[in-house]
Amino acid sequence: MNVTRRGFLKGMAATGVATLVGKKLLTPEQAKAIQTKNIKYAYKPNICNFCANICGIKVRVAYVDGKPNRLMKIEGNIHHPYNRGVACARGQSGISYIYDKDRIKKPLIRIEGSKRGEWKFKEATWEEAFDYMMNKLKNIKPYEMALMGGWQGCAFYGTYLLPFVLAAQIPTLYGSPIQHCVGSEHLGLHTVFGNYNTHDEVVCDYDRAKYILAVRSNGSLAGISTGRAHRFGAGIKNGAKVVVLDPRASELAAKADEWIPIRPGTDNAFALAMLHVILREQKDGKPLYDEEILRYFTNAPFLAYKDEKGNLQLLSDVDKDGAVEAWYVYDEISGSVQKVFGFYNTNKISKDGKNLKPALFTNNLNVNGKSVKTVFEYLIDYTKDYTPEWASKITDVPASTIKRVAVEFATMKPAIIEPGIYDSRYENTIQLRKTLAIIQAITSGYDKPGTWITGGSYKMLIKDFFDFTKKNGNKITIPIKGYPDVDIPGMLRVLDVGFKYFFNPKAWTHGYPSIQWAYLQTELSKGKEATVFPYITDNGFYESTKKEVFWNGQPYQIKALFIYALNLIRGDVETQRWKEFLTNLDLVVGFDTMPSDTMLYADVIFPDIPYILKKDIIFDINTSHDYTFGTREAAMEKDGDEMHALDFMYMLSKALNAPWLDKMAEIYQYWKWDKKELNQKCEESWNKYHTIVPAIRELQLRMVADELKEYKGVTKSVKELDEEISRNGVINVMDREELMAKYSVPWHQPVPTPSGRMEIYSNIFATLQNMFGYKPNYDPLIAYIPPKWKGDIAPEDVKLEENEFFITHGKIPLQSHTCAATVDNPILVSIGKWREGVYYGIWINEQKAKSLGIKEADEIVVVNAMYPNLKVKGKAHLTKLIRPDTIFIPASFGASSKKLTYGGGLGTPLSDLIPYRPEPVIGGYRANEFTVKVVKA
Ligand code: SF4
Repeated sequence: MNVTRRGFLKGMAATGVATLVGKKLLTPEQAKAIQTKNIKYAYKPNICNFCANICGIKVRVAYVDGKPNRLMKIEGNIHHPYNRGVACARGQSGISYIYDKDRIKKPLIRIEGSKRGEWKFKEATWEEAFDYMMNKLKNIKPYEMALMGGWQGCAFYGTYLLPFVLAAQIPTLYGSPIQHCVGSEHLGLHTVFGNYNTHDEVVCDYDRAKYILAVRSNGSLAGISTGRAHRFGAGIKNGAKVVVLDPRASELAAKADEWIPIRPGTDNAFALAMLHVILREQKDGKPLYDEEILRYFTNAPFLAYKDEKGNLQLLSDVDKDGAVEAWYVYDEISGSVQKVFGFYNTNKISKDGKNLKPALFTNNLNVNGKSVKTVFEYLIDYTKDYTPEWASKITDVPASTIKRVAVEFATMKPAIIEPGIYDSRYENTIQLRKTLAIIQAITSGYDKPGTWITGGSYKMLIKDFFDFTKKNGNKITIPIKGYPDVDIPGMLRVLDVGFKYFFNPKAWTHGYPSIQWAYLQTELSKGKEATVFPYITDNGFYESTKKEVFWNGQPYQIKALFIYALNLIRGDVETQRWKEFLTNLDLVVGFDTMPSDTMLYADVIFPDIPYILKKDIIFDINTSHDYTFGTREAAMEKDGDEMHALDFMYMLSKALNAPWLDKMAEIYQYWKWDKKELNQKCEESWNKYHTIVPAIRELQLRMVADELKEYKGVTKSVKELDEEISRNGVINVMDREELMAKYSVPWHQPVPTPSGRMEIYSNIFATLQNMFGYKPNYDPLIAYIPPKWKGDIAPEDVKLEENEFFITHGKIPLQSHTCAATVDNPILVSIGKWREGVYYGIWINEQKAKSLGIKEADEIVVVNAMYPNLKVKGKAHLTKLIRPDTIFIPASFGASSKKLTYGGGLGTPLSDLIPYRPEPVIGGYRANEFTVKVVKA
């Protein structure tokens, strides 16, 4: 048959029309009838909600006879400076999420007599569901309530939550990624650079890097945050060498120049040996570290001493409020000890204005009766024994390879150690990441082209804060006095909010701190170990329902839980524990779009508006290197009784008599929001549109107008800005190059650590050390923590039985988080099924599997060797691309909710296999610190 181009196009048009009206093929008559209709297309800007990259997207909508009729396609938004017009396959699959028949569109109330865990709900009106909830809340005190949110709530509406909990007097918040993501895996980095890399202050400049080293992290570039991949691709194209350390050849390793199949969990030793080499080797007569940076922009030259307990402390002057007024350095120009500012970006000048050249090496000085050395000298001492030969026995990587990678990294600049999302997690994760961050800092790898670049809005947040500290004597207290909490940058905000509110019973009228803090105090009083910095973690929740948490001598119990877009059952570990916890509560309220495993345990569920159907407030796009604001426009009318999360909070705050908007105005002082105006505008907007979003958006755009005027000298009205952002999805205030030239950190302004310098010696860890006693987990400098697969047996001495393996897990590109939006997505599920073994299977080495009589797709059981009651079933995937002593399970799969038509029952539910054993700093999961036995099912 001959098909002319004209005929082919005609055929395509008819097919296109057919897709507009449904899944069935149309008769020629029906197609003709539709062709006579007036069909046009429009693009609506939005922000992808499928991962923390928050890429700018545009949604193509078909309009029939002037009315939006069907969502057609998602594309990257070309105006968006972060993703530059690119959207990953996962992001593009968002349309099928909107049309997913499983989506929750109406409020649901549990049918009387049914049990939590069963999907037995009846549809209700908002009034009925809200009354039901309020009726159950009647006898529950605010401190017995807790709010749990997943990454979307945190990324988009997190700052509105703080005024809400303060107004409602609810001291307990839990943010789901904290223990298996931003807390445990990033805290080590945060202690050095002060950022709080949630979503996301640091996005690497892969494009201009010459060397990229990924350590245990497929998640960032190829797993969760695939939006970084296009920059990474540009880096490869521009000739960057890529080295990947991973026990399996991940998607990222497939793109690498070198895959180093390291023994799982031993990267801590690898990193320490790299540091050992960089501190000692030379090239062309010069050290591999950057001496200038260490002297002037880190706390490496600060003088330190060992106290009577043997703990390392910095020499300092402290004022009556506990703020450090001065640190001490030895100045090579004057040959004397000098004081430098308590909070500042550089050590170039002394407190009294002299030019300094702080020494990295001293000769056993004695200051104020104390024998002191520089932090740098201590660092050299501490790394003495961590030779490549020592690390080789632990890591199973030749010493020559470790040494070569260290030298390459320090000499092929600019170089990046991938700082993003991690895969497997051990007790040593925090110290591993701290060591990697030190390597990145001392090889001039921060906020310079080709390195770790901080986002535009983050730089501006630091700028305002720096201006404030300069007016206050270049010193800060923790918590920070006299500055709006939500405007404090990075880790300083976490410390501030933690110590000012969540850990402080006096901050609440009822006198109860968060359940996490009460749990820590309860455990300490029994002489037990617990998480010492339980910042919005899950510690104590389960125990509280068992009446094992006490405050003022009385049991302190969580009774009501609000869950926003969080899948506790699959996201947290030891599934059974969380099922039991949810069952023991008096009330479980869900706010979600999908019937996830966790929503099965709700009593009442309120439907959230899916992002594509949502007109939203204004966000600063913190993944952008530019200073950028963005928003969402509803591509079509919402198709059910869904509500915006902020409107739900508005209703709830009214019902609880909580002055949420007043608190918001109080702590958003920098946005210049007037209490009366905010209340009035929200009320008007609510009465008119049944949403407060337009009111908040208008006030935010006023702030954007101020920023444009201040930094660009451009005057635009709120109406003009609204039109611009509705059309393009973004407003750019300042581009990356200008920001780098004026506000890069720490070159122009401090990093938000307690000292403002890049901290080789962590003041945050020193605080924990001084409050709770020394532990290697929060050693302020560095520490080696071996993986404890078999109790205290050293890794190099561990012997595995024939069917025994180490286990790793990790993210894969099909799925970002455990929330069911990507789990149940029919497009992503079909891609997964096309490569079922790779994406849903349990990876096992081919030769090893054969020796155990296991074939591809055989049903196998994986049993936790340390806790044999924890076991999972799955299908074997045989491959050469993994070490013979290790198996790999993709993370986040294994949804068992029968209400999920497409994703329910697929994959291996990893959280069933992992015991609940949080590490002692921030409660990170020791998710891979055991071995497993594999048997045929
Ligand atoms: S990288 Fe993440 S945010 Fe960007 S399009 Fe993909 S899923 Fe969406």
